[in-house]
Amino acid sequence: MHAFSYQHGELYCENVALTNIAQEVGTPVYVYSKETILGHFLRLKEALAPLNAEVAFAVKSCSNIAILNLMAQHGAGFDIVSGGELFRVSKAGGDTAKCTYAGVGKTPAEIRYALEQGIYCFNVESIAELEAINAIAGAMGVKAPVAVRVNPNVEAGTHKYITTGKSENKFGVDFELILDIYRMAAKDLPHLHLKGLQMHIGSQLTQVTPFLEAVKKVAPLAAQLKEEFGIEFFSIGGGVGIVYKESLESGESKWWNDDCEQLTIDTYAKAVVPVLEPLGLHIIVEPGRLIVGNAGTLLTTCLYEKIGKAKTFKIIDAGMNDLIRPALYEGHHQIIPVKEFPADSKVQADIVGPICESGDFLAQNREVADVKAGDLLAVLSAGAYGFSMSSNYNSRPMSAEVLVDGDTWSLIRKRQTWNDLIEGESIPQ
Ligand SMILES: *Cc1c(COP(=O)(O)O)cnc(C)c1O
Repeated sequence: MHAFSYQHGELYCENVALTNIAQEVGTPVYVYSKETILGHFLRLKEALAPLNAEVAFAVKSCSNIAILNLMAQHGAGFDIVSGGELFRVSKAGGDTAKCTYAGVGKTPAEIRYALEQGIYCFNVESIAELEAINAIAGAMGVKAPVAVRVNPNVEAGTHKYITTGKSENKFGVDFELILDIYRMAAKDLPHLHLKGLQMHIGSQLTQVTPFLEAVKKVAPLAAQLKEEFGIEFFSIGGGVGIVYKESLESGESKWWNDDCEQLTIDTYAKAVVPVLEPLGLHIIVEPGRLIVGNAGTLLTTCLYEKIGKAKTFKIIDAGMNDLIRPALYEGHHQIIPVKEFPADSKVQADIVGPICESGDFLAQNREVADVKAGDLLAVLSAGAYGFSMSSNYNSRPMSAEVLVDGDTWSLIRKRQTWNDLIEGESIPQ
């Protein structure tokens, strides 16, 4: 099932016409479907039921406190990558004791804050970081729960910027070194509690093979660490991809990522569960994109059409500061009109934003509805790494965010104002 569909020639999110939201809130605006978010979360939980796995939502994919609160209400844990994300989880009513904290560059202040908040575990990315956490925990008179992030050196088959499990990536510690590091830590770092093992090989994976390869490679190591050090959990990270292309036009009612033949929630679970179950460890998964990716749409208005010598441009009021995935990752987003167009009224065009950069496009050389100034467009599958990666570049206020629930909707983030843009700035006297 999916929550964005045409009803009476108009695009709806659940039972709310997107035109109504655009009229009241303006554009650009991110619109999320509660039903889709929860549907993906619960379906993943169910598929992993034999493991009684913890689903720790990757906060960086979509970090609005309303979304985090929704996840918290349904028992999710959280995968965080900064002190700021931990702060968000606590403000959202999330359980900080269910937070796992990854990232290669945790600062002393962040480590202290995480210890104070009693997080579940630090996922540590280097020996130097282990030593730093040990020292800080010692000074605070506590034991810090740690897991080392293992880099299994497998090919994820995704964009190079979101591949994280190869030896040349900055993430994790080489597979071959892990055992020695746990032995060193057990001997020399008394303020650490060796609690688990973690990995995360990349994002937007569309095949099950890399997951299976990584899990098979690392499971024996997890078993050995359990035996030697009594670790209690193994986190296999996130990374399950979603379908970005032409999912709506299929017209069929199915789960968004079920169109992805190679990798659905079920094929993922069927592959990893048999390898993980015999370990007898607490299993954690850290999905971000899978939960929210297809649950969010960026609504934007066409401002101008410009017909040049080489190309036609549809200039819209959302830019790369609102959604950077096309510019950064060559990300594809399906872009459809909010008022349904006849199928034969398409033109080839670039859909570009107002930012002064040639990389500021949301689609290039695309067959799109021949929208004109004032028409609304929906940029689909923008829920993950959409708003959370937005910026104020070109001094553009960040967009609003809306959460739809059945036939009602709530503003979950106000559009920034120009005053917000200069907040905190000052001119020297
Ligand atoms: C980003 C990230 C995730 C989530 O990745 P998705 O592709 O959104 O599922 C999970 N774990 C870690 C450590 C991450 O950095």
